[in-house]
Amino acid sequence: MSDACIINGHIIDPANNIDEVGDISITDGKIAKVGGKEALTDLQNANVYDATGLIVVPGLIDMHVHLREPGFEHKETIATGTAAAAAGGFTSVACMANTSPVIDTPEKIEQIYDIASKTATTNVFPFGSITTGLAGEELTDMRGMHSAGAVGFSDDGVTVMNAALMRDALTLSAELGFPIMVHCEEHNLNAGAVMNLGETSRKLGLVGSPNAAEDIIVARDIMLAEMTGGHLHVLHVSTAGAVELIRQAKKRGVHVTAEVCPHHWILTDSEVEKQGTNAKMHPPLRTQTDIDAIIEGLRDGTIDAIATDHAPHAPSEKAQGMLDAPNGIIGLETCLSLALTYLVQPGHLTLTEAIAKMTAIPANILGIDRGTLSVGAVGDVTVIDVDAINRVDVTKSRSKSRNTPFTGWELRGWQTITLREGKKI
Ligand SMILES: [Zn+2]
Repeated sequence: MSDACIINGHIIDPANNIDEVGDISITDGKIAKVGGKEALTDLQNANVYDATGLIVVPGLIDMHVHLREPGFEHKETIATGTAAAAAGGFTSVACMANTSPVIDTPEKIEQIYDIASKTATTNVFPFGSITTGLAGEELTDMRGMHSAGAVGFSDDGVTVMNAALMRDALTLSAELGFPIMVHCEEHNLNAGAVMNLGETSRKLGLVGSPNAAEDIIVARDIMLAEMTGGHLHVLHVSTAGAVELIRQAKKRGVHVTAEVCPHHWILTDSEVEKQGTNAKMHPPLRTQTDIDAIIEGLRDGTIDAIATDHAPHAPSEKAQGMLDAPNGIIGLETCLSLALTYLVQPGHLTLTEAIAKMTAIPANILGIDRGTLSVGAVGDVTVIDVDAINRVDVTKSRSKSRNTPFTGWELRGWQTITLREGKKI
């Protein structure tokens, strides 16, 4: 007997090249049947969801979120962050290690899985840090953390400035297969910067970070990936230069993948003038030239994945002004709609390409058994109404935090039903 059936939906599963109207049934938490018409006898006791006119895709994966637990529960918890994820159509999130304490031992990886098993709405896949305490001085026990379930390693929030340590991390990546996820900002070029270096920073009298701060580290880490054969994943690409470096590296066969976040393909640094600290993030919002390059990178496959860098901060923290407020914005509940509205509707990506960048591709980068509707796969499914028009209302967010520049924006295309292992979340 099925747990759930989603009938009459337009099924798009990029991993299996499925693009057809039909039914999906989920039995014992696993995909049992995809496409065609479900036999009505099978529908008894199952939860039947009518998806007529809707798009049915594998449960979305966000490969870059900050859930803030342990240590910063006033900003977010694994419970609230994953509730926001589910509300945005995500069934899986991968969470960064810059908590307090930092996730830098196998025991701490196990703790994240333990908290998630008790409180999370979605699947949670933790990253471990590359260096102990994010201090950039010594490598963590990546081998042990990988055995404990870490899906990759990242000092996200800061750059590992020691190139020899990065070489060693990528050497281990080559041996064990996990990705090294890099936040690319040269600390010295970036010193004191609170936004992009450019016309707006000069006008506002704020210290800006040049594109070169990102490009230099992307170039360095590509060289180290090329030297070691390790898997480099560039987090939140923001510059035209980084896109081109990654494009050329891929052409040479370097094992490099990359992601971008919605704010970096939609907003320019002029947003800082209008939105203040809700437009403050690292790497910063750049220029239209960078946006054009990022969109071209998404189109030609240079940029593999779409991620949010969901970075919740309490209102009192974001109210501290441009110099003192922490970096980042929340993003889990708006990412899908921003992708549909600003990438698919203008024709930059097909719907299938956009969905692949939020399902099969991030699953492949992280090496997790998600992101597909293959028979026997975990029954994580997201249903989307691509024609629904809604206004972002941050007061209704499931996140504990409210820091978004997108509140009030009218977006077209929203998730409607999200199932995790066949159960509605
Ligand atoms: Zn980062």
